[in-house]
Amino acid sequence: MNKYLEQLIELSQIDKEIDSFEPKIEAIKKELSSVVKKQSDLETKKDELLEEKKDNELKIRQHELHIAELSDKLNEISKKSAAVKTDKEAKALQLEEDITKEQLDFANEEIERLQKANEVKDDMILEIEEELQEVSKVVEETTKEIEQRLSEIEKQREEVYAKREKLLSKINQKILEFYHKVRKWAGNTTVVPVKKQACYGCFMRINDKTYASVIKSEDIVTCPHCGRILYIEETTEEE
Ligand SMILES: [Zn+2]
Repeated sequence: MNKYLEQLIELSQIDKEIDSFEPKIEAIKKELSSVVKKQSDLETKKDELLEEKKDNELKIRQHELHIAELSDKLNEISKKSAAVKTDKEAKALQLEEDITKEQLDFANEEIERLQKANEVKDDMILEIEEELQEVSKVVEETTKEIEQRLSEIEKQREEVYAKREKLLSKINQKILEFYHKVRKWAGNTTVVPVKKQACYGCFMRINDKTYASVIKSEDIVTCPHCGRILYIEETTEEE
C-alpha cells in the first residue's frame, strides 16, 4: 500500500480517537452530576420540611396566646355571673361562656393537630437525613472514582496526541493539507473504506476504474461522488 495512504489511514484513526475523548468525559461528568442532583434534591426537601415545621410552630404559639386570652375571658365571665341580676343577663353570659369554651376547644384541637403534623415531619426529616448520609457517601466515592477515570482518559489523550505529533512530523505537507481540506467537511469520515465496491462515506457504488485504483493502492484515490479518501478494506467472512 502507498505509504502516504497508510499514514492518512493512521492519522484519521488518531483524529477519530481524539474526537471520542470529549463525549466520554461528558458522560463521566454526567454520572457525577446526577448523584449530586439527588443530594441537593434531598437537601431542598429537608429545608422545605423545616420551613413547614417552623410555620406550624408559629401557628401553635398564636393558638396558645389565644388560649390565654380565652381563659382570661372565662374568668371574667365567672366573676360577672356572680353579680348577675336578671335571667336575660344570665342567658347572655351563658351564651358567651359557651362560645368562649368552643373557641378554647378549637384552639386546643388545632394545637394537637399541628403538633402531630410536626411529629410526622420530624420522622420524614430523620429519614431524609439518613438518606442524605448514604448519598453523601456515594457522592464522595463517585467523585474519587470519576477523578481517577478522568485522569486515565487524560493520560490516554496525551499518548494519542504524542502519537499524532510523531506521525505529523513524517507526513508530506501537501498530503496533510489535502487531508485537512477534506476533513473540514467530512470530519471523522475523511478516510473511509471501500466495501463491496461502495464508498463507506457516501455509500455510493464506485466505478470499476476507481475501484481498480483503490485495490491497487498505489495512489491516494478519492471517491468520485463525495471526494473522501478511499482505501480497500479486506472483507472478512462474516461480511
Ligand atoms: Zn463517497
